[in-house]
Amino acid sequence: MIYLSYFLIYAIIFIFGAIIGSFLNVCILRLPTGESIAAGGSHCMSCKAKIKKYDLIPIVSYIILRGRCRSCGAKISPRYMVVELLNALLYVFTFYWFGLTEVTLESAMVCVVLSCLIIVFFMDLDTQLINMPVVFVIILMAAAKLVLALTSVITPVNVYTWQSALIGALVISVPFLLIFLVSRGKALGFGDVALMFAGGAFLGVKAVIIAAFIGLITGSAAGLITKYKSGNSAFAFGPWLSLGIAAAIFFGDYLADLYLKISGLQ
Ligand SMILES: [Zn+2]
Repeated sequence: MIYLSYFLIYAIIFIFGAIIGSFLNVCILRLPTGESIAAGGSHCMSCKAKIKKYDLIPIVSYIILRGRCRSCGAKISPRYMVVELLNALLYVFTFYWFGLTEVTLESAMVCVVLSCLIIVFFMDLDTQLINMPVVFVIILMAAAKLVLALTSVITPVNVYTWQSALIGALVISVPFLLIFLVSRGKALGFGDVALMFAGGAFLGVKAVIIAAFIGLITGSAAGLITKYKSGNSAFAFGPWLSLGIAAAIFFGDYLADLYLKISGLQ
């Protein structure tokens, strides 16, 4: 009986995550063009036909339509389904990882941050721009987490104090800001600086260092591969930094402590 109710709760979280994921697709598509993310239905990219309500079910519709438009048969990018699935699985993993009952509020805030990071990841890949309002939502979540931690409404899973949030916000973003200024925005964009400020405030000092480390390693690897494949050195760091922040939400403090232990510093 108890297993059935757990299954139901996770199924609901999954469905909710997929619906939000479908909204993230709209954001990724429309935020760069300044189109309204609330108004107006979705259209087929090829024939401009309005997509019917019953063809807008996250994940399911893509499978039923076999990835093609119902009107013109044009291929629909599998990325829409990937984003929906990714957001749904991350929500389920978050509640599994942080617990369903004790830290529901923190889990919910983590879900919001992860959705923001998904937008940053794909939008930066497409446009090499990081959307500031999205970064601001992460800062809001950091502020909310801090208020809840200070008033002891929640006991954060990891040690989270205002000192750790403040130093976390600055420890990577300040060096990044210097690199941004010295390179005149060529090595890093201001969006990367803002992203590490917001991510650091949410993660705290230990985890944000791990986040930057993961971001720099995966980013350099991706940069080398792009350069090797296309000879193109234009490259966005934001996606890899958001990947680093997302990973550090779950494993950052653990990896930081592990590193300190192995190196004999702690
Ligand atoms: Zn079409």
